[in-house]
Order: sequence, then structure tokens, then C-alpha cells
Amino acid sequence: MSKVIIIGAGGVANVVAKKCAQNDSVFTEVLIATRTVAKADKIVAEIKEHMPHSKAVFTTATVDADNVPELVKLINDFGPKMVINVALPYQDLTIMDACLETGVHYLDTANYEPKDVAKFEYSWQWAYQDRFKEKGLMALLGCGFDPGATQAFTAHHAKHHFQEIHYLDIVDCNNGNHGKAFATNFNPEINIREITANGRYWDNGQWVETQPLEISQDIYYPKVATRKSFVLYHEELESLVKHFPTIKRARFWMTFGEAYIKHLNVLEGIGMTSIEPIDFRGMKVAPIEFLKAVLPAPESLAAGYSGQTCIGVQAKGIGKDGQPKVHFVYNVKDHADCYREVQAQGVSYTTGVPAMIGAMLMLQGEWMQPGVWNVEQLNPDPFFAAMNQWGLPISELADIELVKD
Ligand code: NDP
Repeated sequence: MSKVIIIGAGGVANVVAKKCAQNDSVFTEVLIATRTVAKADKIVAEIKEHMPHSKAVFTTATVDADNVPELVKLINDFGPKMVINVALPYQDLTIMDACLETGVHYLDTANYEPKDVAKFEYSWQWAYQDRFKEKGLMALLGCGFDPGATQAFTAHHAKHHFQEIHYLDIVDCNNGNHGKAFATNFNPEINIREITANGRYWDNGQWVETQPLEISQDIYYPKVATRKSFVLYHEELESLVKHFPTIKRARFWMTFGEAYIKHLNVLEGIGMTSIEPIDFRGMKVAPIEFLKAVLPAPESLAAGYSGQTCIGVQAKGIGKDGQPKVHFVYNVKDHADCYREVQAQGVSYTTGVPAMIGAMLMLQGEWMQPGVWNVEQLNPDPFFAAMNQWGLPISELADIELVKD
């Protein structure tokens, strides 16, 4: 039915490509275009080996996604209906520009970040609203798990369970073990920038800033474990409090083990997580980029990864019956199952599946509408059905408060 371009060939792109290969009645022709084409070739070779019955036709190409004319040529030559951007957040705007110029739809999994300052906000991408609308094109922002599924979970709370949501807690637990002393589960540079930034949460109409990892609480993750979890700033908080103005407080929690925090503290203490370039043998190098080159690639963690992820959203407020209510919507995913299915670890899997689903719902017309959209603005029902079908089954827990005030 549709031709798409996937940009990037990292951990998440691997999953998006393989889920497209499984869903070959929707994704008939797929071009994986990236900086290091050998990584795209490896994904395609694995699809041929592990999914020989897929009718989807895969090809690969090299592209520098920082370069708009190169992107425009790539898109015009291939002629896709949409671009799935799973490169890095730095490339969001150049890819959106190229989509506007060539008249194709756009989807990504992380908000734009300038390279020189760790700043997480939608303002840059929301500014494309009129241009996408005028061209009759859709841009779907942040359609991974968090951001992404967490916003569909919130929309589901609002549509099916609550008159008014007052308190929202997004919880993200990785209870897996990859056996490495220190590694990040997705792009190390992006991940470390996020964690070492100050925390922030929404409280009574304003943002409250915290020190990195200052606020913590033991949270029970159903079917998985009780884990110490820390308040971080996460980009979907910005769009959720905008689109659900009844929310009084919104927080994002993530688990980190003691060893992870110890390594991170040391790396930060000696300046290795800095994004400020230093002079090294006549070159300008940002220490965090060097650190990325030293750390294991996220996709290399997949073989032998054990344990589960549990990501969910707790809402508290006034239920449909007018009574106070607390409700939790979540998914649990096993790392080893992800590896068996698509040679990936759980964090790449839980990001890549919602990206494929978002693209499918756009291409099938269920979600397609001109403009720039966040996931919570769209109907959560077809998304829930597709999550259950494509490997991320959703569970719900009523009347138990997992995250305390
Ligand atoms: P990786 O680092 O594994 O992969 C990124 C890919 O993008 C690499 O193949 C890289 O190429 C390619 N790339 C980088 N710069 C360029 C460029 N200028 N031109 C072309 N290709 C480029 O990252 P992940 O797969 O782990 O993450 C992908 C995206 O998903 C990120 O934006 C991340 O923030 C997001 N994410 C979202 C989550 C969610 O739940 N919403 C969770 C996890 C990640 P090369 O191989 O040459 O380095």
C-alpha cells in the first residue's frame, strides 16, 4: 500500500524496520537511509534471514540528515508517502523542512534539541503548525513509548475513565540486566543529556525545577518489581499539561540502579558528560560525544539482556461517575522476547513499535490530518488495538495508588 523512508539505522530504526516487514500489507516499500549505510544493510540482511516471508521490499541509502538539499533529493528520488525519523533529535527540523519541500508526511520519536544546549521543548516544532497545515501535510511528534504511548495512555484515561484528570504520574521502569558495567539503553549522548539536566515537574500552573535526581520514591511496577524511581523532566509533560488543562500536577519518574548512578556521578564529576567542546590535539571534541564512542552501542546490548520493562501512566481525579478515582494503564515487555522476535532489547522495541503503529494509523487514514500533532490529541482507541496486536499488550489496574503524593 505505501512507500516510506526510515531515517537512522540504530536500535530504534532496527525495530521500526522489522515491524514494517511484519506489517507488509501496509508497508510495501521501505528505504532505510542513514549516515553509516552498513548499519542499514545489516538490518536488511537480518530481515531477509529472519523474515523470509515478508513481501515488503527494503533498500538502503546514505544520507546526511543535517543537510536539507540531500534529504530533498533522497525523498524526490524514492517518492515515499511519509518519512519516519528515528535518527537523532538534532535532525528533526532539517527533516521536517525537507518533508515540507517535497510534500510528504512526517513522524518522529523525540523532540528537536539544539546540539549546543540541552533544552527539551516543543516550541521549535510547534512553530511548523501553519506550514504543515497549508500544505495539507501531517507531522506527528514523539510517537515512541515515552513520549508517545504515554500520551495515548493519558488520552485513554481522559476518554474512558475520567471527567477531569488532576494528578498525572508517568512511570518508566527498566528492570533489565545487560551485564555491562555501564551502558545506556538508547543513544548515550541523548540519554545522558536528559538525565544530567535539572529535573522539572508541573505543579499548580507552573514548572518546579529540581536538582538532577533530587526527588525519589519506591514505586511498585505491576508484574515486575518495586524500584527506586527518580523525578526527571520529560518532554511529553509540556504537551500533556497544555492539552489537558485540568491537570494540577504532572511528574515523570524513571528507575536507575545504584551502579548506574555511581558511574554517572563519576563521569559527570570529571567532565566526561559535558556538551561543551574542548580542544584535543587540534580538534574540537565534546566530551559526551567521545564518551558515546567508548560506550557500548545500545543495539549491542540486545543479546543476553534479561528482565522486563514496565512503563505506565497513573491518573488521579474525578471519574466518569463524579467520584474520586485513581487508575493505572501500563505495558510490561520482556527483553529476551524482544531479542527473539526482532534482535533488539526492550527499550528499542518499546520505542520502535509505537513508531510503526503511528505511521500505520497515518497511512491508513485513522490519524491522518494536516498540521503538527502530539499523540494525546489523536484518538487513542485504534492505537490501543494496534499495541495489543503488534507486541505491546496494554493492562489496566483500577483503584490502587502506585505513586504516592
Ligand atoms: P542510535 O544512536 O542507536 O541511532 C541513531 C541513528 O541515527 C544512527 O544510525 C545514526 O547514524 C543516525 N544518524 C545520526 N545522525 C545522523 C545524520 N546526521 N544523518 C543521518 N543519520 C544520522 O539511537 P536510537 O535508535 O537509540 O534512538 C533513535 C531516536 O529514538 C532518538 O531520537 C532517540 O531520542 C529516540 N528515542 C525515543 C524514545 C521514546 O520512547 N520516545 C526512547 C528511546 C529513543 P550512525 O550509525 O552513523 O551513528
